[in-house]
Amino acid sequence: MTLLPYIVNDLRVPLARLLAGALVVALASSACAAGEQGAGGASGKHLLVLFSNNRLLPANVEADRGIRSKLQGLQPDAEISAEFLDYPRFTGEDYIRTLSAYLREKYRERPPQVVVVAGQDAFAFLMDNRRHLFPAAPVVHIAASAAQIEAAAPLPADVVGEPLNIDFRGTVELALRHHAQARHVVVVTGASAFDRAYEAQFRRDAARMGERASFEFLAGLSTQDVLARLAALDRGSVVFTPGFFQDREGRSYFPREAVSIMTKASGAPVYGPFETLIGAGVVGGSMVNFFDMGQEAAEAASAIMVGAEPASLTPPPRAPAQAQLDWREARRWQVPPHLVSRDTLVRFKEPTFWEAHRREALAATGVFALQALLISGLLVERQRRRRTEIALKNNLFQLAHASRRAIAGELTGSIAHEINQPLGAILSNAVAADLMLESGSCTREELREILQDIRRDNMRASEVIRRLRALLQNKELEHAPFDVNEAISDAAHVLRAEVQRRQAQLVVLPAPAPLVVAGDHIQIQQVVINLVLNAMDATATLPPERRAVVVQAASVQGGVDVSVADRGAGVPPAKLEQIFDSFFTTKSAGIGLGLSIARTLVESHHGRIWVENGPQEGAIFHVFLPWPAGAGDSARGT
Ligand code: ADP
Repeated sequence: MTLLPYIVNDLRVPLARLLAGALVVALASSACAAGEQGAGGASGKHLLVLFSNNRLLPANVEADRGIRSKLQGLQPDAEISAEFLDYPRFTGEDYIRTLSAYLREKYRERPPQVVVVAGQDAFAFLMDNRRHLFPAAPVVHIAASAAQIEAAAPLPADVVGEPLNIDFRGTVELALRHHAQARHVVVVTGASAFDRAYEAQFRRDAARMGERASFEFLAGLSTQDVLARLAALDRGSVVFTPGFFQDREGRSYFPREAVSIMTKASGAPVYGPFETLIGAGVVGGSMVNFFDMGQEAAEAASAIMVGAEPASLTPPPRAPAQAQLDWREARRWQVPPHLVSRDTLVRFKEPTFWEAHRREALAATGVFALQALLISGLLVERQRRRRTEIALKNNLFQLAHASRRAIAGELTGSIAHEINQPLGAILSNAVAADLMLESGSCTREELREILQDIRRDNMRASEVIRRLRALLQNKELEHAPFDVNEAISDAAHVLRAEVQRRQAQLVVLPAPAPLVVAGDHIQIQQVVINLVLNAMDATATLPPERRAVVVQAASVQGGVDVSVADRGAGVPPAKLEQIFDSFFTTKSAGIGLGLSIARTLVESHHGRIWVENGPQEGAIFHVFLPWPAGAGDSARGT
C-alpha cells in the first residue's frame, strides 16, 4: 500500500497523457460528465467549477458543498459542472495542453456561462488558457493567494474574487497564547510548487512577527525527517502547518493526510490554518472556511447569471478567519480553559451536565425549590401550630382554673359551714376545759381527752381547707401517675358539705385495687366534682331519697372507667352529644361551660367522656382514662 504514491509519482507524466487523451476521446462525445447536474441546458445557466486539486481533497469537498448548496437555492435551474485538475500530482506542459484540449472539447457544445476557479493552480491554469477555452465566461476566483492575485494584476474586468487569506499570524498567536511555555514555532511546509508558495508567505509573515518567538522552517523535507524532528520537540515549541501536498521525495499527500501523520508523531501541539484540518489531530488555529468561500462564489456566479456586470460585483467582505479549537486535542495538550477566548469556536466539546441537561436540571431545581419552599412552609406552619397549641394549653389551663374557682365559689357556703362545725366544737371544748380548770374538778385524763378532741377537730378543718386549696392552686399542669380511686375520694371530700346542704347522698365506689393512670390529679378531680354537681342539679327538684349520686371507678379494657350516675330525668337522646358543646345549657343560671371544659380536660389525658341514660332513669356520665403507655391490661388484672 505504501508503495502506491511512489509508483503513481514515477508514472505521473505518461499516465497523465494517457489519461487525458483517453478522457478527451471518451468524454468529448458525451454530455454526461462527473459533477454535472441540473437542467441548465434548457435555461442556459451553466456554472463550471475548476478545482486545483483532487476531488477528495477536504477543502474541495467543502467548497463544492458550499457552491452547490448556495446556487441550488438561488438558481434552481442552473447546471453545475465540476472539474478537478489534480494538481500538484499531475503537472507539466503536456498535461496542461491535454487537459485544456479535453476541457475545450468537452464544453464546446455547452460552454459555461460562469467559471469558478478554486485554488491558485486552477486560477493560473484558467488565466493562461482562458482564451482557448471559455473566452466569454466571466471568472470568479476563490482560494487563490493574495500574492498570486497581486502578481496577475491588473486582472481583466470580468475576473472577480477574494484572495485566500491564510491567517498565519493569528494561528501562531493563538498557539502561543494556549501554550504559555512555548517560545519556539516550527513551521512545516512541503516540496511542491504549491507548498513552496505557502512557505514563501509564511516566511514573510514570520519575519513580521518580530521577537515573539523563534521560528524554525521544516520546508520541503522528506516525511521521515519532518517526523523525526517533530518527535524530538517538547512543550517549549508549537508547530504550525497547513499540511503539504508533496515531500522532498515526491511522495504525494492530501494536506489533511500529511497533518494526520505529523500530529501523531509530534512532541509539541500542532496548529493549522484550515478548518478542514480539524479532526486530523491539530489543536486549533485561526481557520479559513472553504464552505463559506464556496457560498460566496456561488452568490457572485448567480448574480452574473442573471445579468450583473462582473466588474460591478463588490465581493462581500470576507469573514475573518475564525479561531477554532478541537476540545479533545486541547485537553490532550492541557490547554488551560481560561486561556481559551470567548470568540473561539470550540469543537467536539462534550457538553457539561448543565449544558446537556439544562432543561431537566432547571425543572429539577424548580421542583427542589418548590419542595424546599413547601417544607419551609410546613415547618413554619408546624411552628405556628405549636405556638397555638401552647397558647391553647395555657388558655385551657386558665379556663380550667377559672372553672375550679367558680366551683369553689359555688361550694363556699357549704364549705364555710363544714369548717364551722369543727371550729364550733373546738370552741365548746375549749370553754369546757376552761370551766373544768376553774372549778378544779377536772382530772388529767379528762383534760387530755378534751385536747385530743380539739386536735381532731382542728385537723378536720385544716383537711377541708387543704383540699380546697389544692383545688384552687394555680399550678402548672401535671403529668404524673396518680390513683383514680384517690381522685374520686378527694372529690367526694370536697363535695361532702355541699351534698349535705343539698340533702343528697353521694355514694363513692372505688375499685378494689389502685387504678394508676398518668396525668393531672386535680383536673380529674375537677371533672368528677363537675359531674356530681350537675347530677345534683338534675335531681334537685326530686324528693331527697332520689337525690343519690353514685360515683364508681372500675378497671376496664385499656384503662379506667369513672361513672357518675344519678336518678334524674336523664338527657334527651338528641342532646347526648350536644351537651358537651360550649355554652350549651338548660339551666336558668347556667353558663354551659362545665361539660365542655370536662371534655377538654379528659381529652388532654387521651381519654374520652360521654353520657348515656340509665336503664330505668337518670343519666350516667362515663370518663374513660387510658393506662399509661407501656402498662398492659394484664398488669391490671382486667
Ligand atoms: P351548665 O351546668 O352551666 O348548664 P354544663 O356544661 O355543665 O353547663 O351542662 C350543660 C347541660 O347539660 C346542662 O345545662 C344540662 O342540660 C345538661 N346536663 C348536664 N348534666 C346532666 C345530668 N346529670 N342530667 C341531665 N342533664 C344534664
